[in-house]
Amino acid sequence: MTYPLFFTDGSQFSHTLGKIVCVGRNYAEHAKELNNPIPAEPILFIKPESSAVPLNNELVIPSSDCHYETEISILIGSSLSSASEEEVEAAIVGVGLGLDLTRRALQSKLKEKSHPWELAKSFDGACPLTDFAKADQFSDLTKLHFSLYINDELKQSGNSEDMLNPIVPLIAHMSIYFTLKPGDIILTGTPKGVGELRSSDLLKLNLMDKVKVNTKVV
Ligand code: ZN
Repeated sequence: MTYPLFFTDGSQFSHTLGKIVCVGRNYAEHAKELNNPIPAEPILFIKPESSAVPLNNELVIPSSDCHYETEISILIGSSLSSASEEEVEAAIVGVGLGLDLTRRALQSKLKEKSHPWELAKSFDGACPLTDFAKADQFSDLTKLHFSLYINDELKQSGNSEDMLNPIVPLIAHMSIYFTLKPGDIILTGTPKGVGELRSSDLLKLNLMDKVKVNTKVV
């Protein structure tokens, strides 16, 4: 099974999904709300390709203990290894949104034991992804605004200018430790306002009116 990647204009990207590299605590206000210290270096983890599902009209979640984290997603178009910021900028081909779904109670237990987080973050369906707006539609990656409404109430409102590690240097940093390949996706961390999803919740996600999705939790 491979996961195809699409742009919002309906065209398909030439590669299928590889890995999904995520960063924890990339917004100070979110680190605070979970009583976590602000890290000196980015906290990186990877969701497997098998966790990806299209973020469209229906959102399937595990029965309970499933929290949303709305994040800007970046689609990588060419290989990056110990890349410069200029090389990273040239490699970004798409910008979208993703949900870093997290079994929060289980993650807390894993954290207590200093264990990796995969059991809480890498289950099937743990990474709903929108299609990608082509990167040339965005003049400044340090000023990307996005929001999540649940049942018409604003739950998360984020701007990439508030990231502790901005998108381009963050990706350059990742590429020191492992190669990023065409079809890899970066999830860039969540702003404050995370919470639990419940059956029948109606979610509205918006990235600068270029990526818009309405979905219902089933
Ligand atoms: Zn996250």
